[in-house]
Amino acid sequence: MTVAVVGGGAVGLSTALALARRNASVTVFERDTLGSGASGRAAGLCYDAFADDVDAAVAADALARYRDMDLFEPQPYVWVARDESDATAVREQITQMQNNGVGVETLTSAELGDRYPALDTSGIEVAGLARDAGVLDPDKVVATLAEQAREAGATIETGTPVSLDSPATVETADETRPFDAVVVAAGPQTKPLVADVGVSLALKAYRAQALVTDPVDATLPSFYDATREFYWRPKGNALLVGDGAHEVDPTDWNPDADAEFVTRSLDRVEQTSALTPACDRAWAGLCTATPDGAPLAGQVADGLWVATGWQGHGLMRAPAMGNYLAADVLSRPNPLSEHLPDRVDPTRFDGSEEFAALDDPTRDWDA
Ligand SMILES: Cc1cc2nc3c(=O)[nH]c(=O)nc-3n(C[C@H](O)[C@H](O)[C@H](O)COP(=O)(O)OP(=O)(O)OC[C@H]3O[C@@H](n4cnc5c(N)ncnc54)[C@H](O)[C@@H]3O)c2cc1C
Repeated sequence: MTVAVVGGGAVGLSTALALARRNASVTVFERDTLGSGASGRAAGLCYDAFADDVDAAVAADALARYRDMDLFEPQPYVWVARDESDATAVREQITQMQNNGVGVETLTSAELGDRYPALDTSGIEVAGLARDAGVLDPDKVVATLAEQAREAGATIETGTPVSLDSPATVETADETRPFDAVVVAAGPQTKPLVADVGVSLALKAYRAQALVTDPVDATLPSFYDATREFYWRPKGNALLVGDGAHEVDPTDWNPDADAEFVTRSLDRVEQTSALTPACDRAWAGLCTATPDGAPLAGQVADGLWVATGWQGHGLMRAPAMGNYLAADVLSRPNPLSEHLPDRVDPTRFDGSEEFAALDDPTRDWDA
């Protein structure tokens, strides 16, 4: 079977690898360089702390694959709530996660402070700690997936933007090539690409930002503050701090971080840890959103599949979802097929839905 994969990010490359390992003849088309989309701009958080059983199953599968590829670096993940309604939600999530067999525990503010003295835990009502979480190096993920896909027989063509001439026919600047199947994993560009062949996706883009600080002298976990709505992860001896997300037009956005995001993020670090690092570098990238927050991953037309709508969690899920998609394209058995198809079926929407990419697109970040 000949399969084209459009998009050389973590999802496209994972899909290509899984297809090639199942003996499909795979060609990846990437318009720019590998990882030049969201994948190379991701923070690299990777965890199994999901309250939903299907999300937890996908995460468990993905983490196992990243561990096998030696790409997973263990790093506990702590998330905290500062007001009673967030705290109630965190407690409920932890019970659900424990029911799903995820290695999480609840910590009081004092217990959290004992474990991580560099954290300022004042005002924290409750914390969750995911013991089996970790971090990924996005560049290493992309390079490893590409290397393994090539070793498995895939051809990867970079600097090759494509469009679709028909659902299973790819058009480059030089040629029009029919395939048995096409998988479009082109981030926000997936929507206009498949629109050309009459497929309408319920997909929006939002811009997320991140920065890396100067070195800090502290032992900290990966951290998400559900009330202040920001996160960090240790990166080498520095911190990678992120969020600042807002809905954008994917054809008109700024890949550089906003000065205001940098100031706010450094303030958040100082409020939460008393550390006062400067910013070493900062950037922005595009994430994709769907009306229900679940991805669009599956068949949309004869010979045509899509894989997008990761809601900021595409890197950590990539190897599981790539494997799922490859099995779906080739009609082979897949351990995730029991629950996943309904959840991620891209045709569960007709594409005309009105929705906001983020819960509260008008949120005042300075509040
Ligand atoms: C600041 C930030 C932090 C993030 N942090 C995390 C995190 O900690 N953990 C996590 O799991 N996720 C995180 N994400 C989300 C994650 O980056 C994405 O969900 C994931 O990378 C999506 O991978 P992808 O392969 O689907 O898309 P992409 O990596 O965007 O790849 C799509 C590719 O398609 C190519 N393309 C587009 N159009 C065409 C065309 N016409 N022809 C050929 N190629 C085309 C693009 O050039 C691009 O390389 C973060 C994102 C951002 C921006």
